[in-house]
Amino acid sequence: MDQENASCPACGIRSARVHSHYWRSLGDVPCLGQRLILLVRIRRFRCVNSVCRQRTFAERPDAIARPRARHTDRLRTLHHAVALALGGNAGARLAGRMAVPVGATTLLRRIREAIPDPVPEVRVLGVDDWAWRKGQSYGTILCDLERDCVIDLLPDRKAATLAVWLRRHPSIEILVRDRAGVLLQGLQRLADRVEGPDWRRQEHTGNGKAGTSVQG
Ligand SMILES: [Zn+2]
Repeated sequence: MDQENASCPACGIRSARVHSHYWRSLGDVPCLGQRLILLVRIRRFRCVNSVCRQRTFAERPDAIARPRARHTDRLRTLHHAVALALGGNAGARLAGRMAVPVGATTLLRRIREAIPDPVPEVRVLGVDDWAWRKGQSYGTILCDLERDCVIDLLPDRKAATLAVWLRRHPSIEILVRDRAGVLLQGLQRLADRVEGPDWRRQEHTGNGKAGTSVQG
């Protein structure tokens, strides 16, 4: 927050007339193993545009956090990674041990926030089980393996749900999935019923290389 002026979000005109200030707390990544909360001094400016509907506005620490966020961007990135690896409840327990406490609901929200809308055209799709609640309910996580990002979450791990999704996304050419029992069996049964391009199914060996592949 080192600039002498800031832009009014309503009219865009910059102002250097400070009205007041307040402190905003932002959870951040831990320091020396300890929970870290940044106290950021935020200035409130008067808008100098006499016809602007906004009389005052607060500057935004865009370099470190989103508007109204309680966590810095880098902590959100860390929570997103934890949520992807462990899901909501287990992720929340680990986050507490890592000195970056967060609730399970927030962790799940981090994943949904990162899902692009609309889902982009994907050529190589990764499919895996994913725990909404560890050991209790499982969904399916879909990843674009060429862009290395999550593109969608399905509410269950039923093959029929995935088949519906595949029909809506005909750009899929290669499907890579872990050896998830229920999903695997369902996919094999449904493979002939999935209409679309000449997509192939590959088994993921867990070492980053595709194993056996079946031409669809
Ligand atoms: Zn203004």
